[in-house]
Amino acid sequence: MDETYILRIYRGHPGHQYWEEFELKWHPMANIISALMEIQRHPVNRKGEKVTPVVWESGCLEEVCGSCSMLINGYPRQACTALIEHIVKQTGSSIIRLAPFTKFPLVRDLIVDRSRMFEDLKRVHAWIDVDSTYNTESGPRISPEKQKIMYALSTCMTCGCCLEACPQVNDHSKFVGPAAISQARLFNANPVGHTQRALRLRPLMEEGGISDCGNNQNCVQVCPKRIPLTDSIAAISRDVTLQSLDDLFSFPDRED
Ligand code: SF4
Ligand code: SF4
Repeated sequence: MDETYILRIYRGHPGHQYWEEFELKWHPMANIISALMEIQRHPVNRKGEKVTPVVWESGCLEEVCGSCSMLINGYPRQACTALIEHIVKQTGSSIIRLAPFTKFPLVRDLIVDRSRMFEDLKRVHAWIDVDSTYNTESGPRISPEKQKIMYALSTCMTCGCCLEACPQVNDHSKFVGPAAISQARLFNANPVGHTQRALRLRPLMEEGGISDCGNNQNCVQVCPKRIPLTDSIAAISRDVTLQSLDDLFSFPDRED
Protein backbone atom coordinates (compact mmCIF):
# COMPACT_ATOMS: atom_id res chain seq x y z
CA MET A 1 0.00 0.00 0.00
CA ASP A 2 1.15 3.56 -0.79
CA GLU A 3 2.51 5.77 1.98
CA THR A 4 -0.48 8.08 1.60
CA TYR A 5 -4.13 7.92 0.53
CA ILE A 6 -6.71 10.55 -0.36
CA LEU A 7 -10.09 11.23 1.22
CA ARG A 8 -12.32 12.98 -1.33
CA ILE A 9 -15.14 14.41 0.76
CA TYR A 10 -18.45 15.83 -0.46
CA ARG A 11 -18.88 18.56 2.08
CA GLY A 12 -20.69 21.82 2.71
CA HIS A 13 -24.15 22.82 3.80
CA PRO A 14 -27.58 22.69 2.12
CA GLY A 15 -27.40 24.56 -1.18
CA HIS A 16 -23.59 24.66 -1.24
CA GLN A 17 -21.86 21.28 -1.47
CA TYR A 18 -18.49 20.66 -3.06
CA TRP A 19 -15.77 18.02 -3.19
CA GLU A 20 -12.61 18.61 -1.21
CA GLU A 21 -9.57 16.35 -1.02
CA PHE A 22 -7.26 15.61 1.88
CA GLU A 23 -4.05 13.59 1.62
CA LEU A 24 -3.28 11.49 4.68
CA LYS A 25 -0.44 9.27 5.80
CA TRP A 26 -1.35 5.59 5.97
CA HIS A 27 -1.38 3.99 9.45
CA PRO A 28 -2.03 0.30 10.13
CA MET A 29 -5.64 -0.36 11.26
CA ALA A 30 -6.72 3.21 10.45
CA ASN A 31 -10.43 3.52 9.78
CA ILE A 32 -12.51 6.33 8.28
CA ILE A 33 -13.21 7.84 11.72
CA SER A 34 -9.52 7.98 12.67
CA ALA A 35 -8.80 9.56 9.26
CA LEU A 36 -11.48 12.20 9.86
CA MET A 37 -10.02 12.85 13.33
CA GLU A 38 -6.65 13.44 11.70
CA ILE A 39 -8.25 16.03 9.38
CA GLN A 40 -9.91 17.62 12.41
CA ARG A 41 -6.50 18.02 14.09
CA HIS A 42 -4.85 19.31 10.92
CA PRO A 43 -7.51 20.77 8.59
CA VAL A 44 -5.37 21.45 5.52
CA ASN A 45 -6.63 20.29 2.13
CA ARG A 46 -4.63 18.76 -0.69
CA LYS A 47 -3.97 22.19 -2.17
CA GLY A 48 -2.29 23.19 1.11
CA GLU A 49 -5.13 25.52 2.15
CA LYS A 50 -6.23 25.70 5.77
CA VAL A 51 -9.97 24.94 5.80
CA THR A 52 -12.71 24.47 8.36
CA PRO A 53 -12.48 20.97 9.85
CA VAL A 54 -14.83 18.40 8.32
CA VAL A 55 -17.70 17.48 10.63
CA TRP A 56 -19.28 14.06 11.02
CA GLU A 57 -21.27 12.21 13.65
CA SER A 58 -20.16 9.18 15.63
CA GLY A 59 -20.97 7.51 18.91
CA CYS A 60 -20.15 3.96 19.93
CA LEU A 61 -17.37 3.29 17.39
CA GLU A 62 -18.38 -0.38 17.29
CA GLU A 63 -21.22 -0.44 14.73
CA VAL A 64 -23.98 -0.38 17.31
CA CYS A 65 -25.29 3.20 17.33
CA GLY A 66 -25.41 3.76 13.56
CA SER A 67 -24.58 7.46 13.85
CA CYS A 68 -21.44 7.39 11.67
CA SER A 69 -23.35 6.07 8.66
CA MET A 70 -22.37 7.70 5.37
CA LEU A 71 -21.71 6.85 1.73
CA ILE A 72 -18.24 5.36 1.40
CA ASN A 73 -17.36 5.01 -2.26
CA GLY A 74 -21.09 5.33 -2.88
CA TYR A 75 -22.06 2.47 -0.57
CA PRO A 76 -24.09 3.14 2.62
CA ARG A 77 -22.19 1.85 5.64
CA GLN A 78 -20.65 2.84 8.98
CA ALA A 79 -17.38 4.77 9.02
CA CYS A 80 -16.19 3.10 12.24
CA THR A 81 -15.90 -0.36 10.66
CA ALA A 82 -14.52 0.88 7.34
CA LEU A 83 -10.79 0.12 7.43
CA ILE A 84 -8.70 2.19 5.03
CA GLU A 85 -6.49 -0.75 4.11
CA HIS A 86 -9.47 -2.96 3.21
CA ILE A 87 -11.11 -0.30 1.08
CA VAL A 88 -7.92 0.50 -0.82
CA LYS A 89 -7.25 -3.23 -1.42
CA GLN A 90 -10.85 -3.82 -2.48
CA THR A 91 -11.00 -0.97 -4.99
CA GLY A 92 -7.36 -0.89 -6.05
CA SER A 93 -7.46 2.89 -5.66
CA SER A 94 -5.94 5.10 -2.98
CA ILE A 95 -8.79 7.61 -3.37
CA ILE A 96 -11.75 7.06 -1.04
CA ARG A 97 -14.96 9.05 -1.60
CA LEU A 98 -17.05 10.08 1.41
CA ALA A 99 -20.46 11.70 1.12
CA PRO A 100 -23.45 12.25 3.38
CA PHE A 101 -26.63 10.21 2.94
CA THR A 102 -28.94 11.67 0.32
CA LYS A 103 -32.34 10.53 1.66
CA PHE A 104 -32.15 12.64 4.82
CA PRO A 105 -31.91 16.42 5.25
CA LEU A 106 -28.30 17.58 5.17
CA VAL A 107 -27.02 19.36 8.29
CA ARG A 108 -23.38 19.94 7.31
CA ASP A 109 -20.54 18.01 5.66
CA LEU A 110 -21.15 14.34 6.54
CA ILE A 111 -23.95 14.93 9.06
CA VAL A 112 -27.58 14.39 8.14
CA ASP A 113 -30.72 14.59 10.22
CA ARG A 114 -32.13 11.08 10.68
CA SER A 115 -35.13 12.26 12.76
CA ARG A 116 -37.60 10.89 10.22
CA MET A 117 -36.59 7.36 11.20
CA PHE A 118 -37.39 8.05 14.84
CA GLU A 119 -40.69 9.68 13.85
CA ASP A 120 -41.50 6.57 11.80
CA LEU A 121 -40.79 4.37 14.84
CA LYS A 122 -43.35 6.47 16.73
CA ARG A 123 -45.75 6.13 13.81
CA VAL A 124 -45.68 2.30 14.04
CA HIS A 125 -45.77 2.26 17.86
CA ALA A 126 -42.36 0.52 18.03
CA TRP A 127 -42.43 -0.17 21.75
CA ILE A 128 -44.48 -2.10 24.29
CA ASP A 129 -46.54 -0.16 26.80
CA VAL A 130 -45.76 -1.09 30.39
CA ASP A 131 -47.31 1.25 32.92
CA SER A 132 -46.00 -0.44 36.14
CA THR A 133 -49.46 -0.47 37.72
CA TYR A 134 -49.75 -4.24 37.62
CA ASN A 135 -47.64 -7.21 38.59
CA THR A 136 -45.47 -7.96 35.58
CA GLU A 137 -43.83 -11.27 36.75
CA SER A 138 -42.48 -13.42 33.95
CA GLY A 139 -44.48 -13.21 30.73
CA PRO A 140 -45.55 -15.99 28.40
CA ARG A 141 -42.70 -18.16 27.12
CA ILE A 142 -41.22 -17.47 23.70
CA SER A 143 -39.85 -20.44 21.75
CA PRO A 144 -36.09 -20.46 21.01
CA GLU A 145 -36.86 -20.31 17.26
CA LYS A 146 -38.93 -17.19 17.71
CA GLN A 147 -36.32 -15.70 20.08
CA LYS A 148 -33.72 -16.17 17.36
CA ILE A 149 -35.78 -14.18 14.86
CA MET A 150 -36.62 -11.52 17.44
CA TYR A 151 -32.97 -11.14 18.39
CA ALA A 152 -32.00 -10.57 14.76
CA LEU A 153 -34.71 -7.92 14.38
CA SER A 154 -33.69 -6.25 17.65
CA THR A 155 -30.19 -5.50 16.36
CA CYS A 156 -31.48 -2.66 14.16
CA MET A 157 -29.48 0.47 15.01
CA THR A 158 -31.65 2.92 13.03
CA CYS A 159 -28.59 3.65 10.89
CA GLY A 160 -30.60 4.48 7.77
CA CYS A 161 -28.56 2.40 5.28
CA CYS A 162 -31.71 0.53 4.19
CA LEU A 163 -33.59 3.78 3.55
CA GLU A 164 -30.65 5.23 1.67
CA ALA A 165 -30.59 2.19 -0.64
CA CYS A 166 -34.37 1.95 -1.10
CA PRO A 167 -35.60 3.49 -4.37
CA GLN A 168 -39.09 3.83 -2.88
CA VAL A 169 -37.77 6.25 -0.25
CA ASN A 170 -37.56 9.54 -2.09
CA ASP A 171 -38.83 13.12 -2.13
CA HIS A 172 -42.05 12.11 -3.86
CA SER A 173 -43.02 9.31 -1.50
CA LYS A 174 -44.10 9.00 2.10
CA PHE A 175 -42.84 5.40 2.31
CA VAL A 176 -41.95 4.55 5.88
CA GLY A 177 -39.10 2.28 4.75
CA PRO A 178 -38.06 -1.20 5.78
CA ALA A 179 -36.56 -0.48 9.23
CA ALA A 180 -39.83 0.67 10.83
CA ILE A 181 -41.72 -2.21 9.19
CA SER A 182 -39.24 -4.65 10.67
CA GLN A 183 -39.56 -3.05 14.12
CA ALA A 184 -43.36 -3.41 13.91
CA ARG A 185 -42.77 -7.12 13.29
CA LEU A 186 -40.41 -7.32 16.30
CA PHE A 187 -42.86 -5.75 18.75
CA ASN A 188 -45.83 -7.70 17.37
CA ALA A 189 -43.85 -10.92 17.90
CA ASN A 190 -43.67 -10.26 21.63
CA PRO A 191 -46.68 -11.90 23.37
CA VAL A 192 -47.44 -8.68 25.28
CA GLY A 193 -46.76 -6.48 22.26
CA HIS A 194 -49.03 -8.72 20.18
CA THR A 195 -52.06 -7.44 22.08
CA GLN A 196 -51.41 -4.00 20.55
CA ARG A 197 -50.62 -5.22 17.03
CA ALA A 198 -53.45 -3.19 15.48
CA LEU A 199 -51.68 0.01 16.61
CA ARG A 200 -48.64 -1.01 14.57
CA LEU A 201 -50.45 -2.47 11.58
CA ARG A 202 -53.04 0.25 10.94
CA PRO A 203 -50.50 3.02 10.18
CA LEU A 204 -48.90 0.60 7.71
CA MET A 205 -52.20 0.38 5.78
CA GLU A 206 -52.09 4.13 5.12
CA GLU A 207 -50.28 6.11 2.43
CA GLY A 208 -46.55 5.47 2.77
CA GLY A 209 -47.22 2.09 4.36
CA ILE A 210 -46.41 -1.46 3.34
CA SER A 211 -48.02 -1.27 -0.10
CA ASP A 212 -45.41 1.30 -1.19
CA CYS A 213 -42.64 -1.32 -1.03
CA GLY A 214 -41.53 -2.17 -4.56
CA ASN A 215 -39.86 -5.40 -3.38
CA ASN A 216 -36.57 -4.90 -5.22
CA GLN A 217 -34.69 -5.95 -2.06
CA ASN A 218 -31.89 -3.38 -1.99
CA CYS A 219 -32.53 -2.94 1.71
CA VAL A 220 -31.62 -6.47 2.71
CA GLN A 221 -28.40 -6.26 0.66
CA VAL A 222 -27.05 -3.24 2.51
CA CYS A 223 -28.21 -3.83 6.09
CA PRO A 224 -24.98 -4.06 8.12
CA LYS A 225 -26.77 -6.20 10.72
CA ARG A 226 -28.05 -8.63 8.07
CA ILE A 227 -31.60 -8.21 9.33
CA PRO A 228 -33.99 -10.28 7.20
CA LEU A 229 -35.87 -7.18 6.06
CA THR A 230 -37.66 -8.77 3.13
CA ASP A 231 -38.97 -11.52 5.45
CA SER A 232 -40.26 -8.75 7.74
CA ILE A 233 -41.92 -7.01 4.80
CA ALA A 234 -43.59 -10.28 3.72
CA ALA A 235 -44.71 -11.07 7.29
CA ILE A 236 -46.12 -7.59 7.91
CA SER A 237 -47.78 -7.54 4.51
CA ARG A 238 -49.69 -10.69 5.46
CA ASP A 239 -50.54 -9.31 8.94
CA VAL A 240 -51.77 -6.02 7.47
CA THR A 241 -54.15 -7.96 5.18
CA LEU A 242 -55.46 -9.98 8.13
CA GLN A 243 -55.85 -6.82 10.21
CA SER A 244 -57.77 -5.06 7.44
CA LEU A 245 -60.15 -8.05 7.16
CA ASP A 246 -60.52 -8.04 10.92
CA ASP A 247 -61.33 -4.32 10.87
CA LEU A 248 -63.77 -4.80 8.01
CA PHE A 249 -65.80 -7.52 9.71
CA SER A 250 -65.74 -6.36 13.30
CA PHE A 251 -68.53 -3.98 14.22
CA PRO A 252 -68.64 -1.70 17.21
CA ASP A 253 -70.93 -2.93 20.02
CA ARG A 254 -74.44 -1.64 19.56
CA GLU A 255 -76.66 -0.39 22.35
CA ASP A 256 -80.22 -1.49 21.55
S1 SF4 B 1 -37.73 -4.36 -0.76
FE1 SF4 B 1 -39.09 -2.64 -0.31
S2 SF4 B 1 -38.15 -1.68 1.43
FE2 SF4 B 1 -36.56 -2.98 0.54
S3 SF4 B 1 -35.43 -1.64 -0.87
FE3 SF4 B 1 -37.07 -2.60 -2.03
S4 SF4 B 1 -38.76 -1.16 -1.97
FE4 SF4 B 1 -37.34 -0.60 -0.35
S1 SF4 C 1 -32.69 -2.37 9.27
FE1 SF4 C 1 -30.46 -2.52 9.05
S2 SF4 C 1 -29.91 -0.95 7.55
FE2 SF4 C 1 -31.98 -0.49 8.27
S3 SF4 C 1 -31.72 0.95 9.91
FE3 SF4 C 1 -31.78 -1.08 10.85
S4 SF4 C 1 -29.64 -1.74 10.97
FE4 SF4 C 1 -29.72 0.00 9.57
